[in-house]
Amino acid sequence: MANELFNSFMTGPDENGRFGDFGGRFVSETLMPLILELQEEYEKAKTDDSFWAEMNHLWTHYVGRPSPLYFAERLTDHLGGAKVYMKRDELNHTGAHKINNVLGQIILARRMGKKRIIAETGAGQHGVATATVCAKFGLQCVVYMGAHDVERQAPNVFRMRLLGAEVIPVTSGRGTLKDAMNDALRDWVTNVRDTFYCIGTVAGPHPYPAMVRDFQSIIGKEVRTQMMDAEGRFPDTLIAAIGGGSNAMGLFFPFLDDKEVDIIGVEAGGKGVNAKMEHCASLTGGRPGVLHGNRTYLLQDDDGQILEGFSISAGLDYPGIGPEHAWLHEIGRAKYVSITDVEALEAFQLSCELEGIIPALEPSHALAHVMKMAPELPKDHIICMNMCGRGDKDIFTVAKALGFEMGEFA
Ligand SMILES: *Cc1c(COP(=O)(O)O)cnc(C)c1O
Repeated sequence: MANELFNSFMTGPDENGRFGDFGGRFVSETLMPLILELQEEYEKAKTDDSFWAEMNHLWTHYVGRPSPLYFAERLTDHLGGAKVYMKRDELNHTGAHKINNVLGQIILARRMGKKRIIAETGAGQHGVATATVCAKFGLQCVVYMGAHDVERQAPNVFRMRLLGAEVIPVTSGRGTLKDAMNDALRDWVTNVRDTFYCIGTVAGPHPYPAMVRDFQSIIGKEVRTQMMDAEGRFPDTLIAAIGGGSNAMGLFFPFLDDKEVDIIGVEAGGKGVNAKMEHCASLTGGRPGVLHGNRTYLLQDDDGQILEGFSISAGLDYPGIGPEHAWLHEIGRAKYVSITDVEALEAFQLSCELEGIIPALEPSHALAHVMKMAPELPKDHIICMNMCGRGDKDIFTVAKALGFEMGEFA
């Protein structure tokens, strides 16, 4: 371990939001007061029992937590090695882990008296979760979405509109997630007084990466208790897919100080990490730079221009990675690997056939790495992977990748 001086990995970030050389608050003067106000409110909420009582109530009655920890018996037999457990966050209301975090931020927004919520979304999952919680609380919701993504993700755009949100297509740049995030930040500066910016992953300026991580940590906290009940000990290996890295941080964070637990993040390898940047593996194939208010590993060209990246999974194609992951990577506490589209598709099908679980393409990447590892490991080795989303949204993408024409599924 490169960093023996730290007794705990769970103390970060420092007061400036830094995880080692990563993170921080790279924002304009005009944004600074907003960021500081948010930070102050979050610090208060963190130690306020009534805040967490409200969260717990909604997690239980609205989201459906705790999500099950499921022993994938047939998959385990098939792989012939380590025992595979799935944390079933795909069973949450709205079909993924995103709502864990959105609830936290919206409750905070209500405490701050904000009536208008803005969000950015790529594939639309965070937009749908935000529109959902805004509908529940009667808040105005505006979602920025790249024009290109609006076209690609029509069902989620319609879901958001049904839920009462206004979806604004962003035409600047290449019309994808990065551009939507820039426009959302711009909106925030312009509408300071009544607006709360709800970020969907462990990115953005401090305190967002730590705050989103804290809200998602319910995943890992539940796994600690559930694994003790099931096996009487912690898992040997944790595995999760990484877009910005929020479902992964949620699973990993409560285990960072349990040094016997190996931690593996799986990035989207697209068509392969060496092939002309047709991937989204920011740690494996990128280098440090500044984007969206923090310093982290980014996909960029030689001139520092941010690259779009590519993955079959729309939810993984963020050109950066949360700064805490960059830090865990550098100090060696977590390991990061990549999985290609083809490997993820294979895992997707295996989960359907052996477990009756249609996974989202994002966690299919995590599962593909489980498939590589498990056969080599002894039968008493326990792997826990995060099944962070369900695959209903992805069936047409998968059909196309498997060579079916529309209307030809039978
Ligand atoms: C959004 C999303 C992701 C990627 O976001 P993270 O912040 O890396 O978790 C992964 N899986 C699913 C199902 C998603 O909806």
